[in-house]
Amino acid sequence: MQTRCLIGGEWTDARAGGTLPVTNPATDAEVARVPSMGGSETFDAIGAAWNASAAWKSRPAADRARFVRRLSELMLRDADRLARLMTLEQGKPLAEARGEIAYAASFLDWAAEEGRRLGGEIIPASAPNKRILVLRQPIGVVAIITPWNFPAAMITRKLGPALAAGCTAVIKPAEETPLSALALGELAIEAGLPAGVVNIVTGPPAEIGETLLADARVRKLSFTGSTDVGRVLMRGASQHLLRLSMELGGHAPFIVFDDADLEHAVSAALACKFRNAGQTCICANRFLVQAGIYEDFLGRLAQAVGTLRVGDGLAEGTTVGPLINDEAVHKVEAHVEDAQSKGGTVMVGGRRVRLEGLADRFYAPTIIEGMTREMRLFREETFGPVAPVMAFEDEAQAIELANDSEFGLASYFFTKDASRLIRVAEALEYGIVGANDGAPSTAQAPFGGMKHSGFGREGGHFVMDEYTEVKYVSWGL
Ligand code: NAP
Repeated sequence: MQTRCLIGGEWTDARAGGTLPVTNPATDAEVARVPSMGGSETFDAIGAAWNASAAWKSRPAADRARFVRRLSELMLRDADRLARLMTLEQGKPLAEARGEIAYAASFLDWAAEEGRRLGGEIIPASAPNKRILVLRQPIGVVAIITPWNFPAAMITRKLGPALAAGCTAVIKPAEETPLSALALGELAIEAGLPAGVVNIVTGPPAEIGETLLADARVRKLSFTGSTDVGRVLMRGASQHLLRLSMELGGHAPFIVFDDADLEHAVSAALACKFRNAGQTCICANRFLVQAGIYEDFLGRLAQAVGTLRVGDGLAEGTTVGPLINDEAVHKVEAHVEDAQSKGGTVMVGGRRVRLEGLADRFYAPTIIEGMTREMRLFREETFGPVAPVMAFEDEAQAIELANDSEFGLASYFFTKDASRLIRVAEALEYGIVGANDGAPSTAQAPFGGMKHSGFGREGGHFVMDEYTEVKYVSWGL
Protein backbone atom coordinates (compact mmCIF):
# COMPACT_ATOMS: atom_id res chain seq x y z
CA MET A 1 0.00 0.00 0.00
CA GLN A 2 1.48 3.35 -1.04
CA THR A 3 1.24 5.88 1.82
CA ARG A 4 3.47 8.69 0.57
CA CYS A 5 2.62 11.51 -1.80
CA LEU A 6 3.78 11.81 -5.37
CA ILE A 7 5.66 14.99 -6.29
CA GLY A 8 7.79 15.24 -9.40
CA GLY A 9 7.99 11.46 -9.73
CA GLU A 10 9.27 11.00 -6.14
CA TRP A 11 7.39 9.40 -3.26
CA THR A 12 7.51 12.12 -0.65
CA ASP A 13 6.74 12.68 3.06
CA ALA A 14 5.52 15.93 4.54
CA ARG A 15 8.43 18.30 5.18
CA ALA A 16 7.65 18.55 8.89
CA GLY A 17 7.04 14.80 9.05
CA GLY A 18 3.37 15.11 10.03
CA THR A 19 0.87 12.42 9.10
CA LEU A 20 -2.90 11.97 9.08
CA PRO A 21 -4.71 8.73 9.90
CA VAL A 22 -6.86 6.89 7.38
CA THR A 23 -9.50 4.85 9.22
CA ASN A 24 -11.90 2.15 8.17
CA PRO A 25 -15.40 3.63 8.72
CA ALA A 26 -16.80 0.16 9.37
CA THR A 27 -14.46 -0.70 12.23
CA ASP A 28 -12.63 2.49 13.26
CA ALA A 29 -9.36 0.61 12.73
CA GLU A 30 -6.47 2.70 11.44
CA VAL A 31 -5.67 1.49 7.93
CA ALA A 32 -2.60 3.67 7.33
CA ARG A 33 -1.16 7.14 7.82
CA VAL A 34 -0.51 9.55 4.95
CA PRO A 35 1.51 12.78 4.82
CA SER A 36 -0.04 15.91 6.24
CA MET A 37 1.21 18.32 3.63
CA GLY A 38 0.69 22.05 3.41
CA GLY A 39 1.61 25.06 1.31
CA SER A 40 5.29 24.34 0.69
CA GLU A 41 4.75 20.79 -0.60
CA THR A 42 1.82 21.96 -2.72
CA PHE A 43 4.07 24.67 -4.16
CA ASP A 44 6.59 21.96 -5.05
CA ALA A 45 3.88 19.86 -6.70
CA ILE A 46 2.75 22.83 -8.79
CA GLY A 47 6.38 23.42 -9.77
CA ALA A 48 6.76 19.79 -10.82
CA ALA A 49 3.56 19.93 -12.90
CA TRP A 50 4.67 23.19 -14.46
CA ASN A 51 8.13 21.86 -15.32
CA ALA A 52 6.67 18.72 -16.91
CA SER A 53 4.08 20.67 -18.88
CA ALA A 54 6.07 21.77 -21.96
CA ALA A 55 7.36 18.28 -22.80
CA TRP A 56 4.03 16.59 -22.10
CA LYS A 57 1.95 18.88 -24.28
CA SER A 58 4.41 18.67 -27.17
CA ARG A 59 4.05 14.88 -27.41
CA PRO A 60 1.77 13.67 -30.19
CA ALA A 61 -1.80 13.15 -29.02
CA ALA A 62 -1.66 9.46 -29.91
CA ASP A 63 1.39 9.08 -27.71
CA ARG A 64 -0.35 10.69 -24.70
CA ALA A 65 -3.39 8.53 -25.37
CA ARG A 66 -1.26 5.39 -25.07
CA PHE A 67 -0.16 6.35 -21.56
CA VAL A 68 -3.74 7.09 -20.50
CA ARG A 69 -5.02 3.82 -21.93
CA ARG A 70 -2.19 1.94 -20.24
CA LEU A 71 -3.26 3.45 -16.92
CA SER A 72 -6.79 2.21 -17.55
CA GLU A 73 -5.49 -1.30 -18.30
CA LEU A 74 -3.40 -1.35 -15.12
CA MET A 75 -6.43 -0.34 -13.05
CA LEU A 76 -8.39 -3.23 -14.49
CA ARG A 77 -5.48 -5.62 -13.95
CA ASP A 78 -5.37 -4.61 -10.26
CA ALA A 79 -9.13 -4.26 -9.83
CA ASP A 80 -9.42 -6.67 -6.90
CA ARG A 81 -6.59 -5.08 -4.94
CA LEU A 82 -7.83 -1.54 -5.64
CA ALA A 83 -11.41 -2.45 -4.73
CA ARG A 84 -10.35 -3.92 -1.41
CA LEU A 85 -8.33 -0.82 -0.61
CA MET A 86 -11.32 1.34 -1.46
CA THR A 87 -13.66 -0.63 0.78
CA LEU A 88 -11.13 -0.43 3.62
CA GLU A 89 -10.97 3.36 3.54
CA GLN A 90 -14.45 4.23 2.25
CA GLY A 91 -16.71 1.44 3.49
CA LYS A 92 -18.74 0.66 0.34
CA PRO A 93 -19.49 -3.02 -0.33
CA LEU A 94 -16.69 -4.80 -2.17
CA ALA A 95 -18.86 -5.50 -5.24
CA GLU A 96 -19.62 -1.78 -5.55
CA ALA A 97 -15.94 -0.94 -5.13
CA ARG A 98 -15.09 -3.37 -7.96
CA GLY A 99 -17.77 -1.69 -10.06
CA GLU A 100 -16.26 1.70 -9.32
CA ILE A 101 -12.78 0.58 -10.44
CA ALA A 102 -14.21 -0.55 -13.80
CA TYR A 103 -16.19 2.69 -14.05
CA ALA A 104 -13.08 4.74 -13.16
CA ALA A 105 -10.98 2.91 -15.77
CA SER A 106 -13.66 3.53 -18.41
CA PHE A 107 -13.14 7.31 -18.08
CA LEU A 108 -9.43 6.89 -18.82
CA ASP A 109 -10.17 4.68 -21.77
CA TRP A 110 -12.73 7.10 -23.14
CA ALA A 111 -10.47 10.14 -22.67
CA ALA A 112 -7.61 8.37 -24.45
CA GLU A 113 -9.83 7.99 -27.53
CA GLU A 114 -11.20 11.54 -27.35
CA GLY A 115 -7.68 12.94 -26.96
CA ARG A 116 -6.58 11.29 -30.22
CA ARG A 117 -9.36 13.07 -32.09
CA LEU A 118 -8.92 16.52 -30.58
CA GLY A 119 -8.71 18.55 -33.77
CA GLY A 120 -9.09 22.24 -34.55
CA GLU A 121 -10.97 23.91 -37.42
CA ILE A 122 -10.42 25.94 -40.55
CA ILE A 123 -13.23 28.46 -41.01
CA PRO A 124 -13.99 30.26 -44.32
CA ALA A 125 -12.42 33.71 -43.92
CA SER A 126 -13.89 37.20 -44.28
CA ALA A 127 -11.44 38.25 -47.00
CA PRO A 128 -9.72 36.44 -49.91
CA ASN A 129 -6.27 37.17 -48.48
CA LYS A 130 -7.03 35.69 -45.08
CA ARG A 131 -7.45 32.27 -43.49
CA ILE A 132 -9.01 31.50 -40.11
CA LEU A 133 -7.45 28.69 -38.11
CA VAL A 134 -8.84 27.46 -34.80
CA LEU A 135 -6.43 25.58 -32.53
CA ARG A 136 -7.36 23.64 -29.42
CA GLN A 137 -4.52 23.67 -26.96
CA PRO A 138 -4.07 22.22 -23.47
CA ILE A 139 -5.01 24.63 -20.75
CA GLY A 140 -1.85 23.98 -18.67
CA VAL A 141 -1.50 22.88 -15.04
CA VAL A 142 -4.79 21.58 -13.64
CA ALA A 143 -5.69 21.37 -9.94
CA ILE A 144 -7.99 18.45 -9.16
CA ILE A 145 -9.86 18.32 -5.84
CA THR A 146 -12.09 15.31 -5.21
CA PRO A 147 -14.54 13.89 -2.62
CA TRP A 148 -14.53 10.61 -0.68
CA ASN A 149 -17.70 9.02 -2.07
CA PHE A 150 -16.09 7.81 -5.33
CA PRO A 151 -12.38 7.80 -4.42
CA ALA A 152 -11.16 6.53 -7.82
CA ALA A 153 -13.74 7.57 -10.41
CA MET A 154 -13.93 11.22 -9.38
CA ILE A 155 -10.20 11.45 -10.05
CA THR A 156 -10.03 9.56 -13.35
CA ARG A 157 -12.89 11.41 -14.96
CA LYS A 158 -10.83 14.58 -14.55
CA LEU A 159 -7.32 13.20 -14.85
CA GLY A 160 -8.01 11.18 -18.03
CA PRO A 161 -9.16 14.09 -20.19
CA ALA A 162 -6.62 16.46 -18.62
CA LEU A 163 -3.71 14.18 -19.54
CA ALA A 164 -5.11 13.27 -22.94
CA ALA A 165 -5.51 16.97 -23.79
CA GLY A 166 -1.87 17.65 -22.80
CA CYS A 167 -2.34 19.10 -19.30
CA THR A 168 -0.39 18.13 -16.20
CA ALA A 169 -2.06 17.77 -12.81
CA VAL A 170 -1.86 18.28 -9.06
CA ILE A 171 -4.44 16.12 -7.29
CA LYS A 172 -5.76 16.67 -3.78
CA PRO A 173 -7.93 13.69 -2.81
CA ALA A 174 -10.36 13.73 0.12
CA GLU A 175 -8.85 13.29 3.56
CA GLU A 176 -10.95 10.15 4.19
CA THR A 177 -9.87 8.33 1.02
CA PRO A 178 -6.29 9.21 0.00
CA LEU A 179 -5.12 5.61 -0.43
CA SER A 180 -7.09 4.99 -3.63
CA ALA A 181 -5.54 8.14 -5.09
CA LEU A 182 -2.01 7.14 -4.09
CA ALA A 183 -2.56 3.67 -5.57
CA LEU A 184 -3.54 5.38 -8.81
CA GLY A 185 -0.31 7.39 -8.59
CA GLU A 186 1.67 4.14 -8.37
CA LEU A 187 -0.04 2.85 -11.49
CA ALA A 188 0.67 6.15 -13.25
CA ILE A 189 4.38 5.57 -12.61
CA GLU A 190 4.11 1.97 -13.80
CA ALA A 191 2.30 3.18 -16.93
CA GLY A 192 5.43 5.22 -17.68
CA LEU A 193 3.96 8.69 -17.26
CA PRO A 194 6.90 11.11 -17.06
CA ALA A 195 7.81 12.58 -13.66
CA GLY A 196 5.70 15.60 -12.73
CA VAL A 197 2.81 14.89 -15.11
CA VAL A 198 0.74 13.53 -12.21
CA ASN A 199 1.32 14.84 -8.68
CA ILE A 200 -0.67 13.98 -5.56
CA VAL A 201 -0.68 15.86 -2.26
CA THR A 202 -2.62 14.91 0.88
CA GLY A 203 -3.32 16.98 3.96
CA PRO A 204 -5.67 19.54 5.48
CA PRO A 205 -7.66 21.09 2.64
CA ALA A 206 -7.64 24.85 3.26
CA GLU A 207 -3.89 25.42 2.97
CA ILE A 208 -3.49 23.13 -0.03
CA GLY A 209 -6.51 24.76 -1.71
CA GLU A 210 -5.30 28.30 -1.04
CA THR A 211 -1.83 27.50 -2.40
CA LEU A 212 -3.29 26.00 -5.57
CA LEU A 213 -5.55 29.00 -6.14
CA ALA A 214 -2.90 31.62 -5.38
CA ASP A 215 -0.35 30.26 -7.86
CA ALA A 216 -0.57 31.78 -11.32
CA ARG A 217 0.98 28.66 -12.86
CA VAL A 218 -2.25 26.75 -12.14
CA ARG A 219 -4.70 27.49 -14.96
CA LYS A 220 -7.70 25.37 -14.12
CA LEU A 221 -9.50 23.93 -11.11
CA SER A 222 -11.69 20.90 -11.52
CA PHE A 223 -13.61 20.31 -8.30
CA THR A 224 -16.10 17.69 -7.22
CA GLY A 225 -17.62 18.11 -3.79
CA SER A 226 -20.17 20.05 -1.82
CA THR A 227 -21.77 23.27 -3.00
CA ASP A 228 -20.51 25.13 0.09
CA VAL A 229 -16.86 24.27 -0.57
CA GLY A 230 -17.42 24.94 -4.29
CA ARG A 231 -18.41 28.50 -3.40
CA VAL A 232 -15.28 29.01 -1.29
CA LEU A 233 -13.08 27.72 -4.10
CA MET A 234 -14.85 29.87 -6.70
CA ARG A 235 -14.11 32.96 -4.66
CA GLY A 236 -10.43 31.95 -4.39
CA ALA A 237 -10.29 31.15 -8.09
CA SER A 238 -11.14 34.74 -8.93
CA GLN A 239 -7.53 35.81 -8.07
CA HIS A 240 -6.16 34.39 -11.30
CA LEU A 241 -9.51 33.99 -13.10
CA LEU A 242 -9.10 30.22 -13.24
CA ARG A 243 -11.10 28.12 -15.61
CA LEU A 244 -13.47 26.07 -13.46
CA SER A 245 -15.40 22.82 -13.53
CA MET A 246 -17.73 22.56 -10.54
CA GLU A 247 -19.40 19.20 -9.91
CA LEU A 248 -21.37 19.97 -6.75
CA GLY A 249 -24.18 18.62 -4.60
CA GLY A 250 -27.39 17.12 -5.92
CA HIS A 251 -30.92 16.53 -4.68
CA ALA A 252 -32.51 14.25 -7.23
CA PRO A 253 -36.27 13.89 -7.58
CA PHE A 254 -37.49 10.41 -8.53
CA ILE A 255 -40.95 10.65 -10.12
CA VAL A 256 -43.15 7.62 -10.67
CA PHE A 257 -46.20 8.22 -12.89
CA ASP A 258 -49.22 5.96 -12.64
CA ASP A 259 -48.51 4.44 -16.08
CA ALA A 260 -44.97 3.36 -15.11
CA ASP A 261 -43.65 -0.18 -15.11
CA LEU A 262 -43.67 -0.42 -11.32
CA GLU A 263 -41.39 -3.42 -11.05
CA HIS A 264 -38.76 -1.64 -13.12
CA ALA A 265 -39.24 1.63 -11.18
CA VAL A 266 -38.79 -0.15 -7.85
CA SER A 267 -35.62 -1.96 -8.85
CA ALA A 268 -34.22 1.31 -10.27
CA ALA A 269 -35.20 3.09 -7.04
CA LEU A 270 -33.39 0.51 -4.95
CA ALA A 271 -30.12 0.83 -6.85
CA CYS A 272 -30.38 4.57 -7.31
CA LYS A 273 -31.20 5.33 -3.66
CA PHE A 274 -29.21 2.81 -1.65
CA ARG A 275 -25.99 2.38 -3.65
CA ASN A 276 -23.04 3.59 -1.56
CA ALA A 277 -25.51 3.82 1.39
CA GLY A 278 -27.16 6.78 -0.33
CA GLN A 279 -23.91 8.74 -0.44
CA THR A 280 -23.88 9.60 -4.13
CA CYS A 281 -24.44 13.00 -5.68
CA ILE A 282 -26.98 11.63 -8.14
CA CYS A 283 -28.90 9.37 -5.77
CA ALA A 284 -32.66 9.78 -5.51
CA ASN A 285 -33.48 12.09 -2.62
CA ARG A 286 -37.18 12.83 -3.04
CA PHE A 287 -39.64 10.22 -4.26
CA LEU A 288 -42.71 11.75 -5.93
CA VAL A 289 -45.34 9.13 -6.65
CA GLN A 290 -48.65 9.65 -8.45
CA ALA A 291 -51.64 9.21 -6.14
CA GLY A 292 -53.20 6.28 -8.03
CA ILE A 293 -50.18 4.01 -7.47
CA TYR A 294 -48.85 5.52 -4.25
CA GLU A 295 -49.79 2.62 -1.96
CA ASP A 296 -48.78 -0.02 -4.50
CA PHE A 297 -45.36 1.60 -5.08
CA LEU A 298 -44.71 2.07 -1.36
CA GLY A 299 -45.57 -1.56 -0.63
CA ARG A 300 -43.26 -2.82 -3.36
CA LEU A 301 -40.45 -0.46 -2.33
CA ALA A 302 -40.74 -1.53 1.32
CA GLN A 303 -40.52 -5.17 0.27
CA ALA A 304 -37.44 -4.48 -1.88
CA VAL A 305 -35.75 -2.46 0.88
CA GLY A 306 -36.25 -5.45 3.18
CA THR A 307 -33.86 -7.45 1.00
CA LEU A 308 -30.91 -5.10 1.66
CA ARG A 309 -28.18 -6.26 4.04
CA VAL A 310 -26.36 -3.77 6.22
CA GLY A 311 -22.80 -4.66 7.24
CA ASP A 312 -19.07 -4.37 6.78
CA GLY A 313 -18.36 -3.80 3.10
CA LEU A 314 -15.80 -6.59 3.16
CA ALA A 315 -18.34 -9.16 4.41
CA GLU A 316 -19.98 -11.45 1.88
CA GLY A 317 -23.53 -10.39 1.02
CA THR A 318 -23.37 -6.82 2.35
CA THR A 319 -25.34 -4.41 0.19
CA VAL A 320 -25.29 -1.32 2.44
CA GLY A 321 -22.06 -0.35 4.21
CA PRO A 322 -21.39 2.23 6.92
CA LEU A 323 -21.74 5.96 6.52
CA ILE A 324 -18.41 7.72 6.03
CA ASN A 325 -18.14 9.39 9.46
CA ASP A 326 -20.09 10.33 12.60
CA GLU A 327 -21.09 13.70 11.16
CA ALA A 328 -22.80 11.93 8.27
CA VAL A 329 -24.79 9.74 10.70
CA HIS A 330 -25.84 12.79 12.71
CA LYS A 331 -27.06 14.52 9.56
CA VAL A 332 -29.20 11.54 8.56
CA GLU A 333 -30.63 11.31 12.08
CA ALA A 334 -31.39 15.03 12.11
CA HIS A 335 -33.23 14.77 8.77
CA VAL A 336 -35.32 11.83 9.98
CA GLU A 337 -36.16 13.52 13.31
CA ASP A 338 -37.09 16.72 11.50
CA ALA A 339 -39.41 14.78 9.19
CA GLN A 340 -41.08 13.01 12.12
CA SER A 341 -41.60 16.29 13.96
CA LYS A 342 -43.38 17.65 10.86
CA GLY A 343 -45.77 14.74 10.39
CA GLY A 344 -43.68 12.24 8.42
CA THR A 345 -44.01 8.55 9.27
CA VAL A 346 -41.13 6.09 9.37
CA MET A 347 -42.39 3.15 7.36
CA VAL A 348 -39.14 1.14 7.32
CA GLY A 349 -35.86 1.68 9.23
CA GLY A 350 -35.40 5.09 10.80
CA ARG A 351 -32.65 4.03 13.23
CA ARG A 352 -29.01 3.05 13.51
CA VAL A 353 -28.08 -0.60 13.11
CA ARG A 354 -25.71 -1.77 15.83
CA LEU A 355 -23.47 -4.61 14.66
CA GLU A 356 -21.22 -6.51 17.01
CA GLY A 357 -17.55 -5.63 16.76
CA LEU A 358 -18.21 -2.83 14.26
CA ALA A 359 -18.33 0.95 14.54
CA ASP A 360 -21.62 2.65 15.42
CA ARG A 361 -21.94 4.15 11.96
CA PHE A 362 -24.51 1.99 10.19
CA TYR A 363 -27.96 3.33 9.39
CA ALA A 364 -30.91 1.18 8.39
CA PRO A 365 -32.30 1.65 4.87
CA THR A 366 -35.28 3.89 5.57
CA ILE A 367 -38.56 4.91 3.97
CA ILE A 368 -40.37 8.01 5.23
CA GLU A 369 -43.96 8.43 4.16
CA GLY A 370 -45.71 11.78 3.91
CA MET A 371 -42.82 14.07 2.95
CA THR A 372 -43.75 17.76 2.74
CA ARG A 373 -41.96 20.82 1.38
CA GLU A 374 -41.29 22.03 4.91
CA MET A 375 -39.04 19.10 5.71
CA ARG A 376 -35.24 19.24 5.49
CA LEU A 377 -35.48 16.02 3.48
CA PHE A 378 -37.26 17.98 0.77
CA ARG A 379 -34.72 20.84 0.73
CA GLU A 380 -31.30 19.41 1.58
CA GLU A 381 -29.09 16.63 0.31
CA THR A 382 -29.37 13.88 2.97
CA PHE A 383 -26.41 11.77 1.77
CA GLY A 384 -27.70 8.68 3.52
CA PRO A 385 -29.99 5.65 2.99
CA VAL A 386 -33.28 7.51 3.46
CA ALA A 387 -36.09 7.48 0.89
CA PRO A 388 -38.75 10.12 1.62
CA VAL A 389 -41.95 9.73 -0.38
CA MET A 390 -44.85 12.07 -1.19
CA ALA A 391 -47.88 11.77 -3.45
CA PHE A 392 -48.76 14.06 -6.37
CA GLU A 393 -51.88 14.38 -8.52
CA ASP A 394 -50.82 15.28 -12.06
CA GLU A 395 -47.85 15.88 -14.37
CA ALA A 396 -47.75 19.65 -13.85
CA GLN A 397 -47.60 19.22 -10.09
CA ALA A 398 -44.86 16.58 -10.37
CA ILE A 399 -42.69 18.89 -12.48
CA GLU A 400 -43.29 21.83 -10.17
CA LEU A 401 -42.34 19.77 -7.09
CA ALA A 402 -39.30 18.30 -8.83
CA ASN A 403 -38.00 21.69 -9.89
CA ASP A 404 -38.61 23.24 -6.47
CA SER A 405 -34.96 22.89 -5.48
CA GLU A 406 -31.84 25.00 -5.67
CA PHE A 407 -30.00 21.93 -6.98
CA GLY A 408 -30.01 20.68 -10.57
CA LEU A 409 -27.80 17.62 -10.98
CA ALA A 410 -29.75 14.39 -11.61
CA SER A 411 -33.46 13.63 -11.87
CA TYR A 412 -35.43 10.49 -12.65
CA PHE A 413 -38.90 9.70 -13.86
CA PHE A 414 -40.78 6.58 -14.90
CA THR A 415 -43.59 6.45 -17.44
CA LYS A 416 -44.64 4.38 -20.45
CA ASP A 417 -46.14 7.38 -22.27
CA ALA A 418 -43.70 8.48 -25.02
CA SER A 419 -45.13 12.00 -25.33
CA ARG A 420 -44.93 12.53 -21.59
CA LEU A 421 -41.38 11.23 -21.67
CA ILE A 422 -40.25 14.08 -23.93
CA ARG A 423 -42.39 16.73 -22.18
CA VAL A 424 -41.09 15.89 -18.71
CA ALA A 425 -37.46 15.43 -19.83
CA GLU A 426 -37.57 18.91 -21.35
CA ALA A 427 -39.23 20.49 -18.32
CA LEU A 428 -36.91 19.14 -15.63
CA GLU A 429 -34.25 21.69 -14.62
CA TYR A 430 -31.50 19.13 -14.20
CA GLY A 431 -28.29 18.39 -16.08
CA ILE A 432 -29.01 14.65 -16.08
CA VAL A 433 -32.41 13.05 -16.65
CA GLY A 434 -32.91 9.33 -16.16
CA ALA A 435 -36.09 8.61 -18.15
CA ASN A 436 -37.02 5.05 -17.15
CA ASP A 437 -33.37 4.73 -16.10
CA GLY A 438 -31.99 4.79 -12.56
CA ALA A 439 -28.32 4.47 -13.55
CA PRO A 440 -27.48 7.06 -16.21
CA SER A 441 -23.76 7.62 -15.47
CA THR A 442 -21.37 6.49 -18.17
CA ALA A 443 -18.12 7.76 -19.69
CA GLN A 444 -19.82 8.32 -23.06
CA ALA A 445 -22.31 10.91 -21.78
CA PRO A 446 -21.94 14.48 -20.49
CA PHE A 447 -22.31 14.40 -16.70
CA GLY A 448 -22.89 17.64 -14.81
CA GLY A 449 -25.33 19.97 -13.18
CA MET A 450 -27.22 23.23 -13.33
CA LYS A 451 -28.10 25.82 -10.66
CA HIS A 452 -26.35 25.13 -7.32
CA SER A 453 -25.12 21.76 -8.60
CA GLY A 454 -22.46 23.63 -10.55
CA PHE A 455 -21.29 23.70 -14.15
CA GLY A 456 -18.99 21.94 -16.56
CA ARG A 457 -19.44 18.49 -18.07
CA GLU A 458 -17.45 15.31 -17.49
CA GLY A 459 -17.68 12.49 -20.01
CA GLY A 460 -18.70 12.46 -23.64
CA HIS A 461 -16.78 14.57 -26.13
CA PHE A 462 -17.82 17.60 -24.06
CA VAL A 463 -15.22 16.87 -21.40
CA MET A 464 -12.31 17.80 -23.67
CA ASP A 465 -13.60 21.39 -23.77
CA GLU A 466 -12.95 21.59 -20.02
CA TYR A 467 -9.21 21.06 -20.49
CA THR A 468 -8.52 23.00 -23.67
CA GLU A 469 -8.23 26.62 -24.75
CA VAL A 470 -9.62 27.61 -28.11
CA LYS A 471 -7.15 29.81 -29.96
CA TYR A 472 -8.00 31.67 -33.15
CA VAL A 473 -5.24 32.42 -35.64
CA SER A 474 -6.09 35.03 -38.26
CA TRP A 475 -3.68 34.28 -41.10
CA GLY A 476 -3.00 37.03 -43.61
CA LEU A 477 -1.61 35.65 -46.87
P1 NAP B 1 -16.49 18.43 0.40
O1 NAP B 1 -16.50 18.53 1.88
O2 NAP B 1 -16.90 19.61 -0.38
O3 NAP B 1 -15.01 17.98 0.02
C1 NAP B 1 -14.63 17.74 -1.31
C2 NAP B 1 -13.14 17.97 -1.44
O4 NAP B 1 -12.86 19.34 -1.19
C3 NAP B 1 -12.30 17.18 -0.44
O5 NAP B 1 -11.10 16.79 -1.04
C4 NAP B 1 -12.05 18.20 0.65
O6 NAP B 1 -10.92 17.93 1.41
C5 NAP B 1 -11.86 19.44 -0.20
N1 NAP B 1 -12.00 20.69 0.53
C6 NAP B 1 -12.80 20.98 1.58
N2 NAP B 1 -12.62 22.26 1.96
C7 NAP B 1 -11.69 22.79 1.15
C8 NAP B 1 -11.07 24.06 1.02
N3 NAP B 1 -11.38 25.07 1.83
N4 NAP B 1 -10.15 24.24 0.05
C9 NAP B 1 -9.82 23.24 -0.79
N5 NAP B 1 -10.38 22.01 -0.73
C10 NAP B 1 -11.31 21.79 0.21
O7 NAP B 1 -17.40 17.25 -0.12
P2 NAP B 1 -17.43 15.74 0.38
O8 NAP B 1 -18.15 15.69 1.67
O9 NAP B 1 -16.07 15.15 0.29
O10 NAP B 1 -18.30 15.07 -0.78
C11 NAP B 1 -19.67 15.06 -0.77
C12 NAP B 1 -20.24 16.13 -1.68
O11 NAP B 1 -19.72 15.98 -2.99
C13 NAP B 1 -21.74 16.01 -1.82
O12 NAP B 1 -22.33 17.28 -1.77
C14 NAP B 1 -21.92 15.39 -3.20
O13 NAP B 1 -23.15 15.65 -3.79
C15 NAP B 1 -20.80 16.01 -3.94
N6 NAP B 1 -20.47 15.23 -5.13
C16 NAP B 1 -20.78 15.75 -6.35
C17 NAP B 1 -20.52 15.02 -7.51
C18 NAP B 1 -20.85 15.58 -8.86
O14 NAP B 1 -20.36 15.03 -9.85
N7 NAP B 1 -21.63 16.63 -8.98
C19 NAP B 1 -19.93 13.76 -7.41
C20 NAP B 1 -19.62 13.25 -6.15
C21 NAP B 1 -19.89 14.02 -5.01
P3 NAP B 1 -11.02 17.13 2.80
O15 NAP B 1 -11.54 15.79 2.47
O16 NAP B 1 -9.62 17.09 3.26
O17 NAP B 1 -11.94 17.89 3.69
